[in-house]
Amino acid sequence: MIPFDYVRAGSIDEAIALGAEPEARFLAGGTNIVDLMKETVERPARIVDIGRLGLDAIEGRQDGGLRLGALAANADTAYHPLVERDYPLLTSAILAGASPQLRNAATNGGNLNQRTRCYYFYDVATPCNKREPGTGCSAIGGVNRNHAILGASEACIATHPSDMCVALAALDAVVRVSGPNGEREIAFADYHRLPGDEPQKDNTLLPGELVTAIDLPAQHFREHYSYLKLRDRLSYAFALVSVAAALSFDGDRIAEARVALGGVAHKPWRKRDAEDILIGTEASQQQFAACADRLLEGAIGRGANDFKIDLAKRAVVRALTQAAADTPQSQVDKKIA
Ligand code: SF4
Repeated sequence: MIPFDYVRAGSIDEAIALGAEPEARFLAGGTNIVDLMKETVERPARIVDIGRLGLDAIEGRQDGGLRLGALAANADTAYHPLVERDYPLLTSAILAGASPQLRNAATNGGNLNQRTRCYYFYDVATPCNKREPGTGCSAIGGVNRNHAILGASEACIATHPSDMCVALAALDAVVRVSGPNGEREIAFADYHRLPGDEPQKDNTLLPGELVTAIDLPAQHFREHYSYLKLRDRLSYAFALVSVAAALSFDGDRIAEARVALGGVAHKPWRKRDAEDILIGTEASQQQFAACADRLLEGAIGRGANDFKIDLAKRAVVRALTQAAADTPQSQVDKKIA
């Protein structure tokens, strides 16, 4: 057991001050940080418990959008009446992830900040640039079935493990943070980062910054959406590939299109020019395939994960087909229609 200080923050300002130390880590639901500490991947000198900061409200905003408190549980978010009614894509994505017990404990802010599930990252006996910069990447040339096919670097080919974040990316969410320099908003597309040559940095948070809420814009996509998750077993498994698809129509033609991929990159993967291919067209397998091809442009396999490229393309077509037909993927009966 590695000793550490435990401090419960009584206010956001106190949490920020306590969390600004380089060896401090925030504790909310604890579903990832505690595992990381048990495996000695994370060795914080101080744990700052933010669980009683009261950031758990889910409430409508004047512009028709919704604000999700950072400390609201994933389960409470998924089953909140306003989320179920207006953002069923988000409900579906959350319910595709983890297990009921984990979703009861895990928080929205924690979901954003969870770390990769690359096996080598958790195995402290192996080289890993994300865990220990400069030591190398064991997954390149190693076991990499779950690893990235897009946006990776020679330093790291890890994927972001979240399902919820794939839907938040598609919905153009905004992350609200507070830190030593005040409050700021981060567009979801800019929140997580690609590994580049600094894979130890998962996101663009600055030291001491704390996620306080996630804002959803008023565009709901509540009629035409689907979250399709493909994995090695039907529950409690991370995505090999997942797709958050959302469409709106003007008559027979697509007015807006959003497609985000999970399980394929260090962050949820979107390309606006791939979505633009669909605008003004009628829903068709041909157009969906063209969108998928553009979205997967530049994809590179590393051997055991080569199959993901074709799988992702077919998953995009299937998810868009489900969204267009208003037959979203069920997360209860996981049979793919
Ligand atoms: Fe570490 Fe990233 Fe390589 Fe996994 S893929 S071993 S997390 S550097």
